[in-house]
Amino acid sequence: MKQSPSHFVGALIALLASVLTMKAAERPNILYLMADDHSTAAIGAYATTLKNVVQTPELDRLASEGGRFTNVQCINSLCAPSRATIITGLYSHQTGVYTLRENLNTADIPSLPKGLQAHGYQTAAIGKWHVHGDNLHGFDYYAITRSQGAYFNPALGDFNGEKIRLKGYSSDVLTDHSIEWLQNRDSEKPFFLMLHFKATHSPWQYAQRHESLFADTKIPEPPTLFDDHRNRDPNGLATAQSRIHKTNSKMSLSLWFSSSKKGSSADWPSGEISIDGLSDIEKAKATYQKYAKDYLRCVKGIDENVGRIRAYLEESGQLENTIIIYTSDQGMYVGEHGLFDKRLGLDPAMRMPLIIRYPKQIAAGSVHDALINNVDYAETILDMTGAPIPASMQGFSFWGLATEQGDWNRRQSLYQFYSNGVSKHYGLVTETYKLLKYVDKNNQVSGFDLFDRKNDPHELQNLATNPEYATILAKMEAALAAERQSVGLTDALLPGSAETGKPTK
Ligand code: CA
Repeated sequence: MKQSPSHFVGALIALLASVLTMKAAERPNILYLMADDHSTAAIGAYATTLKNVVQTPELDRLASEGGRFTNVQCINSLCAPSRATIITGLYSHQTGVYTLRENLNTADIPSLPKGLQAHGYQTAAIGKWHVHGDNLHGFDYYAITRSQGAYFNPALGDFNGEKIRLKGYSSDVLTDHSIEWLQNRDSEKPFFLMLHFKATHSPWQYAQRHESLFADTKIPEPPTLFDDHRNRDPNGLATAQSRIHKTNSKMSLSLWFSSSKKGSSADWPSGEISIDGLSDIEKAKATYQKYAKDYLRCVKGIDENVGRIRAYLEESGQLENTIIIYTSDQGMYVGEHGLFDKRLGLDPAMRMPLIIRYPKQIAAGSVHDALINNVDYAETILDMTGAPIPASMQGFSFWGLATEQGDWNRRQSLYQFYSNGVSKHYGLVTETYKLLKYVDKNNQVSGFDLFDRKNDPHELQNLATNPEYATILAKMEAALAAERQSVGLTDALLPGSAETGKPTK
């Protein structure tokens, strides 16, 4: 029997619909795991100094089964600004989240969760959030901390404004809550889950079961623990924050650890250290040992929970169709340059860990040294799923790089730091060089550092004053100007000039 054209069109539509349904079923889930302040130095797959002590078998397994990125730069090394950038694909001068204080509102702008939700994903955020404002549009569920959150019995705000009090150690109970959400979700849709650990942020409180871990271990010291900063521009560390040990400094970690005046002794789970009568070098060494041990115990807590949620995916048959991403909101000093914390734009603070496991498209054990940054995250994650990428986002998808299916053209990354603790500063990272410009209290550039990233990976030697590098310096200045132009970083929006402030709510 001859079929009518309308019958034929109907059959074609039915076929197309079934293909689309099939495509939807094949769309990968995305498990986005993000730690807070987790340095690459403290992940086995990346570690050098800590290689033989850090215990991250689960993260190392993700790296050996997936791709590991070695040159991911944070454009503003501080919690809230980095997170605002990750969910919007915008630089800090576009999110308006310059420091820890400002609001981010996403009702009227594209965001990563909004893009995935519109693409048919069931979306959730669980754990530390720390971005103020109306920015949870696009999440079907959330249970988050608006600020730092606690290591024990964390209180989360849920979708209905209700408080949830989880009982237990944060990395454990945030993972429990995430697994519960996965168990109860709509399994007809692919999921996008952001599980954000509170660890490894200060005050480095670890689970009780890790109390004796490293008890008899001497943690190796980074080669720059006693860096005197002599050959860098003095404007870069014009203030005293973030020192492992500095005599008479209120912001010295040695003082925090040895006195209940700053964090109380209850904040330091392994107790206070007694450093009276020690030399300055001995004080720094003792402080580093305690800091590194507490920090690495927090790392261990994350690693175990990465293993738990992975095991849940495996047992429920979802592992192979889930892209697992592990990263941190920025890097961290774990004693390098005599520092803790982040902020100052040297490598340990700017470099973010990034591991992506997806055997269907990413080669096991692949290592990617190309330069990328956290502005690129949102577009890349949208791209993984085939979701449209909003034109207003300012990064680039590196999915083609990750899957070895496409070119990658980023050759430089901007840095912008507007907060306190160190001088405000901005600059540019290329594959070969880094230029940082420090801004004084009068909002004038007071000095700059130029580093050769290849020949001076520890960034110990400022080349800006070396006449032999005048051409390189001029090229970096020109590249910085071009990058600022391309991302809309005007003079008025530079660190020191931009109006930073408090959240309105
Ligand atoms: Ca952080």
